[in-house]
Amino acid sequence: MSFKSFQLENKIMKQIEELNYIQPTPIQTKAIPVVLQGRDVMGLAQTGTGKTAAFVLPILQRLLKGPRKVIRALIIAPTRELVEQTNSFIKIVGKNTGLKSLAVYGGVNSYQQIIGLKRGVEIVVACPGRLLDHLQQKVLNLKNLEVLVLDEADHMFDMGFLPDLKRILHYVPAKRQTLLFSATMPDTIQELAYSILKDPALIEVNYTAPLKSISHYLFPVEQHLKTALLMEILKTTEAGPILIFTRTKHRAKSLGEKLNRKGFSAIALQGNLSQNKRQAALNGFRNGTFQILVATDIAARGIDVTEITHVINFDIPDTPDAYTHRTGRTGRAKCTGEAFTFVCKDDLKIVHTLERQVGVELICRTISGFNYDAEQKIERQSRPGRFRGYSRNRKRVKAS
Ligand code: AMP
Repeated sequence: MSFKSFQLENKIMKQIEELNYIQPTPIQTKAIPVVLQGRDVMGLAQTGTGKTAAFVLPILQRLLKGPRKVIRALIIAPTRELVEQTNSFIKIVGKNTGLKSLAVYGGVNSYQQIIGLKRGVEIVVACPGRLLDHLQQKVLNLKNLEVLVLDEADHMFDMGFLPDLKRILHYVPAKRQTLLFSATMPDTIQELAYSILKDPALIEVNYTAPLKSISHYLFPVEQHLKTALLMEILKTTEAGPILIFTRTKHRAKSLGEKLNRKGFSAIALQGNLSQNKRQAALNGFRNGTFQILVATDIAARGIDVTEITHVINFDIPDTPDAYTHRTGRTGRAKCTGEAFTFVCKDDLKIVHTLERQVGVELICRTISGFNYDAEQKIERQSRPGRFRGYSRNRKRVKAS
């Protein structure tokens, strides 16, 4: 199948060729004709499957005809990164259409967004919180809306956006086309889907199964040796861009700093950074200034770097879904990738769950020459008396 079969206008086709998209991905093959017909869609697909183009291309085609300078399509996504990424994609494929799109999210001054809205746009890509602010302050109205897209609905739910979404729905005309995309289908998302979609076409691609282009490995290691093992792996593995996941923001920041001190080109992306710093970190990773990005699950959502060769779970994810999302950042488009997961004794239960539910073989690997038996080193406090004030009864750890 080729993109020609969708009979998209030349203005759009030219840009698809420019992007070097030769064949539609499975979700594009299934979704584009249905969206072009104007039907609602319930899409089960994870990031990395080409779902952005699956809804953006038919939306652009639809908006070519009809009024300008009023908001006719709204795409709601959970993170600023995903909003920026989708907005940039629209700008590229919509370059010759004259259609304008605007990104709306919090953490930055509203002024530029308000100016953009006043000038008039046909497409808004937004995070729920800031979008709701604009709606409540009447700087944005959706009375001309024709298409509503909820992207990564399960993440929006995880991040507590469901109440905001329900409020936003009050501002949206009842007569509209609605497309809902989610990588997983928990009960809450099903309820939401039933309440907002009308006779939707169900389109399912790669549901919960990680992309086949990824090899999965487990690295058993004691907690205190994780950093040393990571350094060893980084030194001995031939790799392109590497994405490392930690459990907490603090661990992401501190691991990023440790890697830099050891001479690796790394940057940490975590929720405490200002929007500018987050964007700078992402751009630096995307353009190759940094080879390694250390991130938490939330911070990493929406990261779209096609060439990531390795995803390393420095801390094992808590759920099979999180594992699928993290590892799906590699092996994207037509590349192959490797997913490494560090496991400690306490993680064995979740490893069994992963193997059962994710449905992939997790191969155990060790690094020859690495001292897996090294004792934990406890650094002497450099500032004497730092712990003054601590309970006298507190158990003391002997410094080595
Ligand atoms: P997405 O799932 O929309 O985030 O897309 C994942 C990656 O696949 C992005 O880098 C897209 O540019 C790329 N991509 C999407 N559709 C195609 C296609 N038909 N051919 C080649 N690459 C694609």
